[in-house]
Amino acid sequence: MRKYVIIGPQGSGKGTQAKRMTEDLDIVHISVGDILRWNVSHYTKLGAQVRRLMARGELVGDDLVQSVIASRMSRHDWNHGFVVDGFPRNGAQAEFFLESYDLDGVINLDMPDDELKRRVLARRLCSQCGLDYNLIDSRPRREDRCDACGGKLVTREDDTPEALDARLREYREKTQPVIDIFSRKEFVVTIDARAGIDEVQADIRRKLGLPLRDADDAEAATDGTDGTDTTDGTNGTKTPGRTRGTAHTSDDDDDGSDD
Ligand code: AMP
Repeated sequence: MRKYVIIGPQGSGKGTQAKRMTEDLDIVHISVGDILRWNVSHYTKLGAQVRRLMARGELVGDDLVQSVIASRMSRHDWNHGFVVDGFPRNGAQAEFFLESYDLDGVINLDMPDDELKRRVLARRLCSQCGLDYNLIDSRPRREDRCDACGGKLVTREDDTPEALDARLREYREKTQPVIDIFSRKEFVVTIDARAGIDEVQADIRRKLGLPLRDADDAEAATDGTDGTDTTDGTNGTKTPGRTRGTAHTSDDDDDGSDD
């Protein structure tokens, strides 16, 4: 079984990297942010409780997110493992998590604030099917429209400069100490998240001793490089880093979005 937590500030690519890990490793991506957003967009009672805090970029209460994570984990659909994204985000949540689950590793994505801001403010999400875009390196063919379904592209409610500043402040104050707690008990790998999506994924896998994806293996073998920036700005990947976002069809599908 492979059990990981991925930690990193908003915009560092946690969701994208977590999802890449699930593509071939048969592990489940569990994102607390996605579960909460699903509830907000489906007007559930839980959604009503968290909506305003989320829109302001503030953390929601520990009891609430702890019960969300406990209930999600209790589905036990993770026979081969999981990668938990967005939890824990403070010391109390870390202690709670460590009491209940053991881990094989913690992935710490590191990125400076100015690069995070540049990336987050360029994020777009299809309001219909939830596909993620980024105006920097995975632009839609038609401006404001989803390539897949033609839905309107929108900005996440909490991707404003004000909310982003609040989230980064919270991250530095509350989430960074989680790394220290984990470092005492768990195997923490720190990854430079500024590189391209493929390279970051390969770095995560190398440091955790996981098999490389076939595509990354082949790329490294043919060009002899590490797959970083190419002239088209897509970081050497032919497939832009798009992933399904928050437009879920049922609450059985509430864990499939981005960071
Ligand atoms: P994320 O998608 O991980 O960026 O999370 C989006 C928002 O959901 C955060 O800004 C918080 O408002 C809330 N949230 C997600 N995970 C947690 C958590 N572990 N603790 C508290 N709030 C959270």
